[in-house]
Amino acid sequence: MSTTQTNKIEIIKATSSKINDVDFDNLSFGAVFTDHLFECDFKNGEWQTPVVKPYAPILMDPSSKVFHYGQAIFEGMKAYKDDKDAIWLFRPEENHKRFNASAVRMAMPEIPESIFLDGLNELLKLDAEWVKRGNGSSMYIRPFMIATGAGVVANPSDEYKFMILLSPAKSYYAGEVKVIIAEHYSRAANGGIGAAKAAGNYGAQFYPTNLANKDGFQQVIWTDDATHTKLEEAGTMNVFFRINDTLLTAPTSERILDGITRKSLLAIAEKEGLKTEVRSVLASELVEAAKDGSLKEIFGAGTAAVVSVIKGFSYKDEYYELPKTDDSYASLLKEKLTGIQNKLAEDTFNWTVQVK
Ligand SMILES: *Cc1c(COP(=O)(O)O)cnc(C)c1O
Repeated sequence: MSTTQTNKIEIIKATSSKINDVDFDNLSFGAVFTDHLFECDFKNGEWQTPVVKPYAPILMDPSSKVFHYGQAIFEGMKAYKDDKDAIWLFRPEENHKRFNASAVRMAMPEIPESIFLDGLNELLKLDAEWVKRGNGSSMYIRPFMIATGAGVVANPSDEYKFMILLSPAKSYYAGEVKVIIAEHYSRAANGGIGAAKAAGNYGAQFYPTNLANKDGFQQVIWTDDATHTKLEEAGTMNVFFRINDTLLTAPTSERILDGITRKSLLAIAEKEGLKTEVRSVLASELVEAAKDGSLKEIFGAGTAAVVSVIKGFSYKDEYYELPKTDDSYASLLKEKLTGIQNKLAEDTFNWTVQVK
């Protein structure tokens, strides 16, 4: 292994690459990781020297607080390679800001932009060969932070580990998704951690989602915990509805994650001259619209799938199937957004940042 120092980041290169063992045409999402990872530890009240090093398991004390009290947060973002082999990130400062907001809510230390973004930059440069060009290919990026301090006393850890993993991805198609509107379980509550990308939010969703799966639904549309009448998110994505020609989505709140895909799609929709309304959408309103034919589309929005089309929903034991649309807003918005991300269309919003 050779060791060098750039921008105060230590770089330890892997002696060999796994890249030739990977079938890039048949990637399952989040299953394969590149040769290197980025790591930075927080100790004695400060962030230590960051390092890019070979991907490998980590050794931890079994009493580390992450295992007992769940101090764990993450981000999800993507990088793309253009036809000149330049690598581009999509709105990375938004992910950094949101990561720190999650850290504050989970009583974890914030991470400086210079560590988060420069670390990611160095990691992507080292594993650049793993970022593939062309239709639907991207590099899924998983920054995360865990509490590594030892001891089971129930208070915040004084030591943390921040890491970034890279996982090559093909376009993600979830198939035809049917959803069930939650009438009992909740993803988030006012005063809770729903607006943070906390690992436990996902763990808590698995059981109600399994119940939905057993009934033939792939995902749950989460509602507000107090009344279960407002439609808030679809699985781990923000959710959009099209009623007649109006695109609707709920305002972000303590219960709704401030998705970067969500706000980017809203900006694109406005630029395309589509009518948008950011307001609470009620389950009863959706049922009415489904019955009178004005409900045209429902789709989820998030980094992994970009847009995930929902073909029908169940509410109070009644199933409603959506009609097929020729002028789908979901496809239009997905095409415009991925065009910008892949550098196929002009980035009039200034959202893309080159890795260099
Ligand atoms: C990450 C996430 C989203 C989508 O956010 P993006 O920034 O668009 O990827 C939506 N809802 C929840 C609950 C999430 O965790």
